[in-house]
Amino acid sequence: MPGGVVERETFEFLKGKILEQAHDVDGVCLYLHGAMRAEGVDYCENVILGELRQAVGPAVPIAIALDMHANIVAETARNVNAMVAYHTAPHIDTFETGEKAAAMLLQILAGRRLAMGFAKIPFLLPGEKAQDTVGTMGEMMRLVAELESRPGIVSASLMNGHCWADVPDIGVAAVVVTEGDAVLAQTEADRLATVFWDRRADFDFGTEAYPVDEAVELAMAAPESTVFLSDSGDNPGAGGTTDVTALLASLLAHQASNVVVGSIWDAAAVDACIAAGVGQEVSVALGGKLDTRHGRPLPVTGRVRLISDGSYYWGGVRDPHHLVQRGKTVVLTVDGVDVIVTAQRHSYEEPAQFRALGIDPLAYKIVVPKRGYLTSPLEAISPRSILAVSPGVTNCDVTQLEYRRVNRPMYPLDPDATWKVGDQGPGERSVPSESMPRQGGL
Ligand SMILES: [Zn+2]
Repeated sequence: MPGGVVERETFEFLKGKILEQAHDVDGVCLYLHGAMRAEGVDYCENVILGELRQAVGPAVPIAIALDMHANIVAETARNVNAMVAYHTAPHIDTFETGEKAAAMLLQILAGRRLAMGFAKIPFLLPGEKAQDTVGTMGEMMRLVAELESRPGIVSASLMNGHCWADVPDIGVAAVVVTEGDAVLAQTEADRLATVFWDRRADFDFGTEAYPVDEAVELAMAAPESTVFLSDSGDNPGAGGTTDVTALLASLLAHQASNVVVGSIWDAAAVDACIAAGVGQEVSVALGGKLDTRHGRPLPVTGRVRLISDGSYYWGGVRDPHHLVQRGKTVVLTVDGVDVIVTAQRHSYEEPAQFRALGIDPLAYKIVVPKRGYLTSPLEAISPRSILAVSPGVTNCDVTQLEYRRVNRPMYPLDPDATWKVGDQGPGERSVPSESMPRQGGL
């Protein structure tokens, strides 16, 4: 589960595991998310790839597959021979993206030269405003598909970045890989970046989106049998703490009933519920312990409905037949709201996760996943989806967040920001001052 800044020791360990394999190889194909940040390292994947390039030398090809929300810097494009990112959000082409990266590596190993173009615009874009099937991002991905269908083009990718990482060199990157034509690759990357930049004001939520109270009122009044109400500001899938209680507080204040909230992270509350036992009443101050900026512990009194060890079979479309052990979990019923409380941070993104707790999501009027856009398995069963633009570290209104380190000007923090092809993009301008020495860590 993504979270805050990764401990340096952990990053060094993971990097070491990759680099210790980097000898006597013909080529390297890696799957990296692309937006990892560690203590003192702003662009972890870039450091990994730089050291990997040093270890294997210039003649060994490196191809990488990335998430659509990767923070790619210009140096990364120089360290690898080919890269491709997911073309879908929610991400349902993970397998195909890995396959494309591997295919590109095999092309190079077969003696074909690939060229890559890279362009980046200073645009902080939350994924919730860039789903691949709708709106402006949908149009952008049709441009990508059209480009990829042309002779000489191997792949094209748009990496929207992880807008909640407060690193200097952030933005939307366009990458085009061609069959050796470097001018074509750069021209087309520039063209994609230019269209993206020209359309920057048009990117909007792919679903209904409202402030918290309005979203709650609309969900309660909805004619649909079930509404999925996304607590988007506290999305663990994007690094949220999962302990912001603003939306839950609004639901209780509105006396909403027949609601399930998945989930609040609060180990102390879980222990209190287990100590009380199933069927017992318990009073706890819920959440608000890690993210103290966007919320505070919410005092509630409820009845313990269920205690679980948190083990279940995933059973979903993405990772079937896989036993997940997520630690102690309870369901605490507060008035008409079933709150799933977990001892570890957890993301509820599959119906199977609810069902493992004896909860049928479609039996509820309102289901609150701490997500932004719904994952495809939730979307598949959702009669209606409303996104609450709620507070938290993954707030989808980036203008409400306090950025300290991103390069400025940056759209939309600076509405008058300008960019054109040939400008020194953020990738060239930023000095990753906190990055480790390139030769270190081997
Ligand atoms: Zn992503």
